[in-house]
This record gives sequence, structure tokens and C-alpha cells, in this order.
Amino acid sequence: MKRVSQNLFKSLALFYHSIRFRLTLWFVLILAFVLAAFSAFIYFAQARDLQIDEVGQMQEKFARVTAFFRNPDWQNLTLSATNAPGSNAPLQSGDLMILTDMNGQTIQSWGVSPSNPNALIGELVSAASQRHDLNIYEQNISYTNNGKQAAGDYLFIITPVLGGDHLLGFLIIGSPSNLNNQLRRLMLSLFFGSLGMLVIAFLGGLWLADRAMRPVKAITQTARTISESDLSRRIHLSGRDELAQLAGTFDDMLGRLQSAFDRQRRFVADASHELRTPLTIINLEVGRVLSNRHSASEYQKALQTVDAEGAHMSRLVNDLMTLARMDSGQTVLQMEDDVDLSDVAVEAVERLSPLAEHQNVKLEVGGMPELRVRGDRQSLIQMISNLVENGIKYSGANQTVKIETQTRHNGKKDLAFLRISDTGPGISPDHLPKLFDRFYRVDAARTRDADEDSDSPAGNTPAPSAGSGLGLSIVASIVQMHGGEIHVDSKVNEGTTFEVTLPLQSETR
Ligand code: ADP
Repeated sequence: MKRVSQNLFKSLALFYHSIRFRLTLWFVLILAFVLAAFSAFIYFAQARDLQIDEVGQMQEKFARVTAFFRNPDWQNLTLSATNAPGSNAPLQSGDLMILTDMNGQTIQSWGVSPSNPNALIGELVSAASQRHDLNIYEQNISYTNNGKQAAGDYLFIITPVLGGDHLLGFLIIGSPSNLNNQLRRLMLSLFFGSLGMLVIAFLGGLWLADRAMRPVKAITQTARTISESDLSRRIHLSGRDELAQLAGTFDDMLGRLQSAFDRQRRFVADASHELRTPLTIINLEVGRVLSNRHSASEYQKALQTVDAEGAHMSRLVNDLMTLARMDSGQTVLQMEDDVDLSDVAVEAVERLSPLAEHQNVKLEVGGMPELRVRGDRQSLIQMISNLVENGIKYSGANQTVKIETQTRHNGKKDLAFLRISDTGPGISPDHLPKLFDRFYRVDAARTRDADEDSDSPAGNTPAPSAGSGLGLSIVASIVQMHGGEIHVDSKVNEGTTFEVTLPLQSETR
């Protein structure tokens, strides 16, 4: 029982704090205010109209009564009508008329008789003596009509009767007034009508708000079911309203999150896979030499293998860290003004010329005009080195890797342009779209074999880094962080060309 009431209280609190309740409440409050103002206007306008109407009728009656008495033959005429409809007698059934002397003593009365005539006359006369023309009052009186006791509102007209300048008495004419009754009915109708409208507005408002908020529920429910392990859920809300747009944005965001998570997962899986291969080789090699006695040269060969795999792993870990830092935005580029891209390219070529020599690859440097860009020198060297190193690594003996820079105009602005081309084996078109993806290698086996064929890192000649498929991803990230673009063009058996464009410094200032 306690639990039930707790749950009830909880849902009531939830309902009370819900947007649909508050929205409806505000809506109903505003409507209540409008209805109250409207009802007050109707009430007072109607009250005034009714009053003007009744007073008008009273004045007419008074005019008829005075006309009646002016008729010299009035003694033979009927003053007070019975219930006969259409009678043109001045007084109608229910009316009363009293003629008093100047002291308020009744001289003669017609029609219904008030239960307490003296008090009534006293009151009316004292009010009328302050003004000397036609006075109108409204009063609730009890009276006897045809022997029956009754009570009701009466509208009185009282006027002094003058003989020359002398006050002779007062003439009082009273007629039943329906004004208060009518107004009371009007007020009740307005009150209950407004109340009914407010109830309908509240229920209708709740229903409408509930309908309008349904998509929000759908969004909330979907959001609840989304977890890191399942980002495949979507709201799929149809329509064009604001909530449908919100849901669409939410779906798009989920899509982006899902692909980011998928990329991240793939990245971690690929990274572990890449690290596992050299570790397995080291384990096998160490296990092999430890199991038996071997000659010194065999130990040396085993150690060289361990050394090469260790070097490969540390390069891989370095690349992974570089990419991870770039992804998390931790890489803060040391941006400098006026970095000469040609100068950077020459530095990269100089660093790699021993490798080229060792691989028997010709390094050719083309036109190198001064190209001032804003950038991080070390990252730019890394970007160019990766591209040149790839050219050397994949071209093989007796091939050429050419590097050149120039200014280009793309129709809008001048750009610094860098081209690195080789006469190597080329890349088939179906690999090109994925070339900059992480861990993507055109031919994984060939890449590793090529590395292992390369000479011992123990010597003075640097060995090309073992292919992990990360080099071009790093290149693309560096280019992107410098606001540039990279394109690749390749023909199998003819060679590969990488083209990088960066904004020229004069353009960015
Ligand atoms: P890796 O560490 O394997 O060199 P990259 O990201 O630098 O990784 O290159 C991705 C793949 O693109 C390489 O495995 C290679 O197959 C191919 N590739 C890159 N540059 C060239 C090139 N100049 N000539 C032929 N193939 C290339």
C-alpha cells in the first residue's frame, strides 16, 4: 500500500514537473484571464443596456400616467390593467402607484400594495426631496398582489407633485424589475460557460501537448537504449517540424558517433594485431636459440632479428602515438610564420638521401622556388619524409623519386604546391580511395618482406621503416591540420605521384 502511494506520488510529481503540464497550465491561465476580462466586459455592457432599457420603460410609463391624469375624463378611464394583454392602461399588472401628501402620507394607492408602505415611502421621499425632478430607484420589497404575499425587485420612479411653486406631495410609480435576475443569470452563464471552456481547454491542451511531446518520449527512450556497445539505434522520426529536425540531428550525431567508435575499435584491433606479429617473431626466435646450443653467428642472427622487430615495434608505437595525439587534439603544432616549404623539402631529401643511396634509388630535386607557408616545421618535415620514404621504399633499385615545389593558382588564390613522384610499381586504382586509411596496405606481405630484405639497422645506413599502413594517415592529418589538401595519382608499372597544396602565407595574412 505504501509502495503504491509512493509510486502514485512519484508519477504525480513527474506529471507536475512535465513540460506538457506546465505548458497546459500556462495556456489555461492565459485563457482564464482572457475569459474573465471578456466576461466582465459582457456583464457590464449588458447590465448598462438592461438598465437603460428598464429606465426607458419606466419613463414611458410615467409619461403615460401623467398623460392619463391630464385627460379631463380620467375618472371614467382604467388606470390599472388586469392581466389583459395589449391593454393600453398606463399601469400593468404587478405595477403600483402611490400618491402621497407633502409629508409622505398616502393619499391614494393603485396596483399591488407593499407590505410596509410607510417605510418604503419614507425612504423614497427622503431620497427624492434632495432632487426635485424625476428620480429612479431600485429596491427589493415584499408586497401583496391579489391577496398573495410576494417579494421582488422593483424599480421606482418618484416625482414631486407641485401646485404652482408649492410642493403638494409625491407620485410614486413602481414596476417589477427583472434586472438583477437577468444579471444573476448572465453571471452564472458566463461563470459556468467559462469554467466549462477552461476544463475543455485543459483537457484538450493536455492531449495536444501529449501528442506534441510524443517524439520527445521517443527520443528519450532511444537515448536510454543507446550504449557504447550498441550505437546502431536511430529515432527515425518522420515529419518536418522542429522535433523531427532535432531527431534527425540526433540520428546524424549517432551515425557520426557510431562510425567514430567503429573507427576507434578497428584502430585498437589493428594496432594490437600489428604489435602481435613482431612479438610473435621475437618469442619464436628467442625460444629457438634458447632451446639448443648454437654457434656465435646464429646467436648474432637471432639478436639481429630481435633488434629489427624491436625497432619495427617502436616505430609502430611512435606512429600510433602520433595519430592518437592528433585524434585527441593533444598535438599542438608549433606554428611559425614564413616557413619556406622548399627549404623543408630540401631538408627532408637530405635526411633521406643515405637511404636512397642504399636502396639504389635516384633522388631528383626539381624547381624549388621560395614558398612561404605558415606551419609547424617538424610536422612538415615528417609529412614530406613519409612521402619520399614511401617513394624510395616501394620503387626499388634503379628507379627515380622526384620532388619539386611551385606556386599554383586554383582560380581563387595562390597555393604552395608540392609534388613527389616516383617511377615505381604504381598502385592499382581500386586501392587508391583507401590509401590514406589507417593500417591500409596495398600488399601487406610485400611491404613486410621489403622491410625484412633491407639491410641490418645495425649498420650506418638507415633502413626504411617497416610498413604498418600508418604513414599516409599521418601525412593526411598533417596536411589537414595545415589547411591543405593531398591527392594521389598512380598508374601500375609507371609510378605514383602525390600532390600536396598548402595555403600560401601571403594569402592567409
Ligand atoms: P606503410 O607504412 O605501409 O608504408 P603508408 O600509409 O605509408 O604505410 O602507405 C600505405 C600503402 O600505400 C603502402 O603499404 C603501400 O602499399 C602503398 N604506397 C604508399 N606509397 C607508395 C608508393 N610511392 N608507391 C607504391 N605504393 C605506395
